[in-house]
Amino acid sequence: MKLLLVEDEKRMVQALSELLRQEHYEVDACTDGPSGLAAAEGNLYDVIVLDVMLPGMSGFEIAKSLRRQGIRTPILMLTAKSELDDTVEGLDSGADDYLTKPFMARELLARLRALLRRNLPSGDGTLSFGDIALDTNTVSLVCTATSQRVRLSEKEYRILEYFIVNQKRVLTREQLAEKVWGFDSDAEYNNVEVYLSFTRKKLAFVGAKTSIKALRGIGYELRCEDV
Ligand code: CA
Repeated sequence: MKLLLVEDEKRMVQALSELLRQEHYEVDACTDGPSGLAAAEGNLYDVIVLDVMLPGMSGFEIAKSLRRQGIRTPILMLTAKSELDDTVEGLDSGADDYLTKPFMARELLARLRALLRRNLPSGDGTLSFGDIALDTNTVSLVCTATSQRVRLSEKEYRILEYFIVNQKRVLTREQLAEKVWGFDSDAEYNNVEVYLSFTRKKLAFVGAKTSIKALRGIGYELRCEDV
């Protein structure tokens, strides 16, 4: 699990990084607002731990900017007690959960596990992009424009889920393989192509204008041309 930690108190960064690495998180740390935002924009993280008061740019501003760009990585916001009144602002900014400083390590770890299990930010709870939506209950793909639906295999579902969570980003075959299959082996990359082609056929089947574009030599991106 890749985690971005944005926190300006050096001792806190050190302690949290150590703790999280022990729990097998791969941790990137930033100690000011602008570099935290740049890291979140430039990399794919499974979860972001974001302090509110940061040099250069607040955690609220970072969260707002990410959500505006369609980046839906789950965010756990760290707030001081005195900032509790800002909780509402934080929720509005797109954070998914809060933890008030000082907190216990096990509390942080539990909140992170909960966010990762959910695998999606709060909000309306639906996974949608362009003219498509995923129905979690029936594991199917729905085209909101045509109302057509089709069942998805587990892999197809996870592929679309990963694209929707990371919408407006180019995903590499390696990232898809690692995320959907959970391995990192050259021999299996062909599988990704096969499942992408199945997924494309299902998008076409429901009449969606949303499609998976291949960007030669770079990766794949979910696009909806004219909705
Ligand atoms: Ca701070």
